[in-house]
Amino acid sequence: MRFSHIIKELLLYIVVDFGEIGPVRCSRCKAYINPFMKFIDQGRRFICNFCVTHDTMQSIFTNHHTRNMI
Ligand SMILES: [Zn+2]
Repeated sequence: MRFSHIIKELLLYIVVDFGEIGPVRCSRCKAYINPFMKFIDQGRRFICNFCVTHDTMQSIFTNHHTRNMI
C-alpha cells in the first residue's frame, strides 16, 4: 500500500465534523474534549483533565451521544 493511500485512510478517521457548535470545550479553561476527561452522570457531565472543573455537555452533543448508545 502506498503512503498516500495510508494517509487518506487515516484522515477518514481523524476528521470529525461537529457542525456549527464545534467540538465540546471546557467552559472554564476552553480545553477541547479529549479521551482523558472523565465522563460522569451517564455522559451528561464531564470533569476536565486540565482544570478539574465539573462541566455539562452541550445538549445537542448529549442527544447525539445518547441516540448512538441505544
Ligand atoms: Zn478545563
